[in-house]
Amino acid sequence: MEYPWDQKEFNKSHRFFGALKAGRLEAPRCKKCGEVQWPPRSVCSKCLSDDLEWVELPKEGTLESFHVSHVTALSGEKVPFPVGVIRLANGVRMLARIKVSDIRDLKAGLGMQRINAGLRKGQVTWTYSPSTHKKASKA
Ligand SMILES: [Zn+2]
Repeated sequence: MEYPWDQKEFNKSHRFFGALKAGRLEAPRCKKCGEVQWPPRSVCSKCLSDDLEWVELPKEGTLESFHVSHVTALSGEKVPFPVGVIRLANGVRMLARIKVSDIRDLKAGLGMQRINAGLRKGQVTWTYSPSTHKKASKA
């Protein structure tokens, strides 16, 4: 049985799960001090205000560190896969799955871009991949 995380009757952070269902990663931002709350919470971790607004998190970030996970909570997911700490453009730091063709290409300071976010079988998930700095050609 899945807990109804995305229903406001059960969870003050229900909007987080609703956004994930739509492929967006959102978090509350304090209207009083501007601190973005990650992971999402209903009271500001910096000033304790409960006057928060939801904002979409930037897709771009920087890889700070990574390791290789040999265990997954998602059935059917291939292991091992890299997991990293990503610092987003707004300063939020989060753990994320990483998709890369060759793990030897990963290094601290690498530009990263979120390529998906969602709920899979009731599990929250998002994935980052190294940014490509190639400009799209106009064909
Ligand atoms: Zn605050």
